Amino acid sequence: MSKVRVRFAPSPTGFFHIGSARTALFNWLYAKHTGGTFILRIEDTDQERNREEYLNILKDGMRWLGLDWDEGPDVGGNYGPYFQSERADIYKQYLEILRQKGRAYDKDGAVFFKVSGEKQVLHDAVYGDVERLEEKDFPIFRSNGTPVFHFVNVVDDICMEVTNVIRGQDHLTNTNKHIELFKAFEAPLPQFAHIPLILKSEGQGKMSKRDRGALIEEYQQKNFLPDAVRNYLCMLGWNPKNDKEIMPIEEIISLFDFPGIVKSNARFDERKMAHFNTEHLRGLPEADFENLAKKSVENAGIALSADADFVSKVFALCHPKASNMETFPSLVSYFFDDNYVFDATAKEKVFKKGNPTERLQQAYEVLKNAEFEHDALYQAMVALAQENGVKPTEYFPIIRFAVSGQSGGADLFPMLEVLGKERVLKRIDAFLQNNVQ
Ligand code: GLU
Repeated sequence: MSKVRVRFAPSPTGFFHIGSARTALFNWLYAKHTGGTFILRIEDTDQERNREEYLNILKDGMRWLGLDWDEGPDVGGNYGPYFQSERADIYKQYLEILRQKGRAYDKDGAVFFKVSGEKQVLHDAVYGDVERLEEKDFPIFRSNGTPVFHFVNVVDDICMEVTNVIRGQDHLTNTNKHIELFKAFEAPLPQFAHIPLILKSEGQGKMSKRDRGALIEEYQQKNFLPDAVRNYLCMLGWNPKNDKEIMPIEEIISLFDFPGIVKSNARFDERKMAHFNTEHLRGLPEADFENLAKKSVENAGIALSADADFVSKVFALCHPKASNMETFPSLVSYFFDDNYVFDATAKEKVFKKGNPTERLQQAYEVLKNAEFEHDALYQAMVALAQENGVKPTEYFPIIRFAVSGQSGGADLFPMLEVLGKERVLKRIDAFLQNNVQ
């Protein structure tokens, strides 16, 4: 069998949509799975709608997702040019072939392809056999001299020796025309695999570029983990059949194949995407998480402490609580800034019942003499509660609120340990002086 060559063939006429990204991804996965070649071909024959800006967004988004191409723009290859706008001579030659075979003719200034009059069978790797008769001749060059999609798409797949055409199900209806063209050129047919549509999260219809979560750029801006986005996209239309969805990409590559691609349309689920992101974040090795955390905290305008050990401890402590990198800075900012904000809702919760101020005063006296190690701190608070005949939980929320301004976040005693005795006492002291109600 010849070596697999697959291509992603976008027309850069808009932002990088998750539907396109998923098509690119499935091609990339199949190339990786088979040890084949992944080609990026730019179908930019529509000069009016193509924009350099969109091409850059596309390339940037693909690289961000880790979908590096083996041949194409910026990397070159032996089958170029990889922009259709630079292949006019090739298209002319191929038109000549069709003319010589009596399969192309001029009409009304355009050039038409003469269909065979025979039924064609598409053996689709996902949708099975689809039989169709192409009844009418169709244009392959417009009257303004520009070539039509069906023609350039097939010519390029022939020239680039594409073995598998993996693309959106919306192209299923075009494929009969393509088969006619391949046969007219007496070229071997690639194996076609059409992949299901991505439906919007609610209601009917295909996910459009206006739907929330539809553009790869959104995830880049919100600091999603590219591995998480890629993992989620793998599950839109492919089923590993092992009851697992969150997987490292190496495992997906080894499992990915056409029988796993489902015929039914996939529904986009924003919450599920967020969940994948959280799971991938939590699973990151500590050093990777620390790098990411540093960047996101600094981008949020928070000056990190110069004490590298303290910074590492804060990030390691809050790593299990991180649900996304967009909100992560607000989870840790109080570690680095003594002027932290007291959250109004948290305050209401904490002061709702009991006598928190008195509890905090009692706790302060004990903390002054305590060893700042989380277990020891916990034991000290339990003992204090016993002494006063109340539940230990009467102490916890007010201590947390006083030192962080929040009512949730990192586990309390490890958090006190990381903040350290000096900071904790200073903060409680200041709180008691300023905030007593
Ligand atoms: N330019 C076409 C598209 O973006 C390519 C279709 C194909 O993969 O054959 O839909």
